[in-house]
Amino acid sequence: MKEAGIEPLAVPLDRVLSSTEAIIRGQRTILAGSNNYLGLTFDENCVEAAVDAVRTLGTGTTGSRMANGSYAGHIALEQELADFYGMRRGLVFSTGYQANLGMLSTLVGPRDTVMLDADCHASIYDGLRLGGAKTLRFKHNDPADLDRRLKRLGETARQTLVVVEGIYSMLGDAAPLAEIVGVVKKHGAYIMVDEAHSMGIVGAKGRGVVESEGVLDAVDFVVGTFSKSLGSAGGFCVSPHTDLDMIRYASRPYIFTASSVPSVIASTRAALARLRDDDTLRERIWDNATRLHRGLANLGFELGAAPGPVVATVYDSREAALGMWQGLLDRGVYTNLMLPPAAPNGRCLVRASLSAGHTTAQIETMIGAFADTAIALQKMQREAG
Ligand code: PMP
Repeated sequence: MKEAGIEPLAVPLDRVLSSTEAIIRGQRTILAGSNNYLGLTFDENCVEAAVDAVRTLGTGTTGSRMANGSYAGHIALEQELADFYGMRRGLVFSTGYQANLGMLSTLVGPRDTVMLDADCHASIYDGLRLGGAKTLRFKHNDPADLDRRLKRLGETARQTLVVVEGIYSMLGDAAPLAEIVGVVKKHGAYIMVDEAHSMGIVGAKGRGVVESEGVLDAVDFVVGTFSKSLGSAGGFCVSPHTDLDMIRYASRPYIFTASSVPSVIASTRAALARLRDDDTLRERIWDNATRLHRGLANLGFELGAAPGPVVATVYDSREAALGMWQGLLDRGVYTNLMLPPAAPNGRCLVRASLSAGHTTAQIETMIGAFADTAIALQKMQREAG
């Protein structure tokens, strides 16, 4: 790809204009791959909260919470997250990646077994590697396979942690969480759900698939990130188990890194308040997701899942996906190119993520760009063949 002058993994955003637009290589471009689900990166209250925090608390914490102490904002945000999910305890990490790393390397160790959905995010795999737990996988979104594998573990199932995601980031498909939790409870196991791509979007109050599937009071740990719906950077875990606090004394990714800077905590708290109090954001992202999904389905694209915050088009070859991704960028629409092994099942994806900030006109422009690129690629293929 480098030889062809294409670098899909290092696209320069020369100037960001808003939550949905940037200048890329001199061209005004719609951001359709930013995971900026609620479009809050330029929200007035979030920006003001961050600016105020910089002025009053400074630019950084310059150290970890264990060594340098916790700012009032860290502690307040942990409580606000726990309250939002109706859980007893909350724990904030410096990134979502570190939330999984910190939780999974500490909760479970070499004497424990973890059963994870095969399509889980890299941070989940990495956390388990760091802690050394025995790691087994079950078939993606297949509760019957999970059931069989837990049964095979016998008594060990009661000391097993099951890890799944709410919505999977690549194809955008949701977990059948009610069924999965039913299986977990049947075997007396524990369950952790990563809601990175569903927080603020799914569920009556935006609490994710745990809420829409009615299992909020049955899960042991919910993990999430600030880097998507909350428009900043950071991660968290909430739990009904009061012993969650013990993680603070043993989790290397919690202890041995600097805590989130005050402005990040401040804008995250403002974003969480908006997410909690303003249902219209959720309505807007669903309108946009449904419109894009319908438009692409009508054009005949193969899509990864039902409408949702992630709309992925699926291809059999790298060349086809790359051609589509590049064609979209040339037409002023930035999406994500996802190739194996990041994309599942050996398929290649051009993945769009929707935002409440997208206008209807921007969604129509995206659909038009997909249509025009497909026609241009077919023409090129005909001429070559
Ligand atoms: N979990 C999942 C499912 C993710 O998709 C991601 C990021 N793409 C993360 C965790 C990590 O989040 P962060 O970007 O905040 O490190």
